[in-house]
Amino acid sequence: MSDCLFCGIINKEIPAEIVYEDDDVIAFKDIKPVASTHVLIVPKKHIPTLIDVDDNMLIGKIHRIAVELAEKNNIASSGFRIVCNCNRHGGQEVFHLHFHLIGGRVMNWPPG
Ligand code: 5GP
Ligand code: ZN
Repeated sequence: MSDCLFCGIINKEIPAEIVYEDDDVIAFKDIKPVASTHVLIVPKKHIPTLIDVDDNMLIGKIHRIAVELAEKNNIASSGFRIVCNCNRHGGQEVFHLHFHLIGGRVMNWPPG
């Protein structure tokens, strides 16, 4: 999608610190990290929200990649959070599906 920020990163038109890439998925560092590890894991296909997903394999694959990146960043045993914000009440700002992998500090629950 031409006016989508994350499609721009996927197409290498917008720079990002890419930490993982394959044919279906890309992962890059969040520009405003909320913890020492804050990576966005993003399907390359433009899917606006979690509600629009019709490929369960893709969601499983993204979670597997998240765990691998948690291990690579040494936050697997200390713990981490995978977050998918959906629509307005969920706090979604970029309408290209993405999963936040956040770790490296203790996090509060419930979210504000
Ligand atoms: P959302 O609220 O949609 O779940 O999260 C969007 C995330 O994208 C935010 O954490 C924000 O910091 C991040 N973000 C916004 N613009 C950019 C950008 O240009 N580059 C990168 N790497 N991350 C971005
Ligand atoms: Zn997009």
